[in-house]
Amino acid sequence: MLKKVICLINDGLGDRPIPELGYKTPLEAAATPNLDKLAAGAECGMMHTLGRGRTPGSDTAHLEIFGYDIKTCYSGRGPIEVAGLGMKLEHGDVALRGNMGTVVDGIITDRRAGRIRVVTPLCEAIDGMEIDGVTFVVKPGTAHRAGVIMRGKGLSDAIIDADPHVPDVPIREVTPTDDTPEAKKTAGVLNKFLARAHEVMNDHPYNKERIANGELPGNYLLVRGAGQYKKVDSFEERYGLRACCIAGGGLYKGVGAYLGMTVFDVPGATALPDTDVEAKFRLAVESQAEYNFVFVHVKATDSLAEDGNWQGKKEFIEKIDRAVPILDGRTDDTLLVWTADHSTACEMKAHSADPVPVMFNGRSVRVDKVAAFNERACTAGGLGYIVGLDLMPQVQNLLGKLHLVGA
Ligand code: ZN
Repeated sequence: MLKKVICLINDGLGDRPIPELGYKTPLEAAATPNLDKLAAGAECGMMHTLGRGRTPGSDTAHLEIFGYDIKTCYSGRGPIEVAGLGMKLEHGDVALRGNMGTVVDGIITDRRAGRIRVVTPLCEAIDGMEIDGVTFVVKPGTAHRAGVIMRGKGLSDAIIDADPHVPDVPIREVTPTDDTPEAKKTAGVLNKFLARAHEVMNDHPYNKERIANGELPGNYLLVRGAGQYKKVDSFEERYGLRACCIAGGGLYKGVGAYLGMTVFDVPGATALPDTDVEAKFRLAVESQAEYNFVFVHVKATDSLAEDGNWQGKKEFIEKIDRAVPILDGRTDDTLLVWTADHSTACEMKAHSADPVPVMFNGRSVRVDKVAAFNERACTAGGLGYIVGLDLMPQVQNLLGKLHLVGA
């Protein structure tokens, strides 16, 4: 019987027909002999991650693929991003993610402070600030990013983003989105914090030095994605599988950390097209010695499609395919699951609700007749059409971990 799982989630892999590719999708047009070989030995199908007609976000899609119903396990992107920074949420906390931006005379002149690369000294200067009994925990993320936790009594995540998402507009006052005193209090305290943090960072020697070097100061935290702590069972508690996460992007490391997986830092895993796919696949195989569920995330298929770059997406898929033979080193009791969190349509430059292909490859699997891994071939697969929340029960079944219904 199968005992181990490697689950590869290829972000935004699905797409729509591209006229320049002879009305094939980038995945159909790409030369993928290795993926097709895997599909020929697999049971394939299609997946509407969040159900038909719902366009998945990456965070929500991943949670449902791992069997976590977003109705009870998700309250915004903030908690997932801060988990990815190693920050621990407690009951009552509100988590936000943010960009370090540049504000001059109350106007946001740059949302990423000229793509500032290190924000550690600035975050340290405002970390631990206390306002009206609420403590602000601030940690740096990669480049211009930071995570913020508000800790105190009577807080709520029912507030708007402080980040207006566009530059050259005045800083935005945070307002509550419901009538509760908790939301009102949270918005008020957060506004005071953002103003004080602005003063502290504006005068910080690190920014004075940046200005002297002709760089933009990182002097304002543009926070967004407020979410409140939720008690979520760890992946291991839920499935009895020791899980690890191999990803380059902060959000995906955050998903792994949120579910209690061990999160690896992979040198060369950049979440960009230059990412070292081979290093990720090698680590996936190596980590099987210690983990029986290995989550591998590959991001750039999504970002290339968000740029409308179908040629780049096709070529990146070919790069992934060339690395697939490394996975031949997996143990022979491995179930290899290959899928995507959602489609990202080059013609829309955005996520779409089109279903994604999925395959289950392993020795206990009932292999179907599908011999290519793409959006059209997999429609004929034995799995049929599933939703994200169906995926883990399929895995549990193949691993002999489901309980009998009835007698
Ligand atoms: Zn995604």
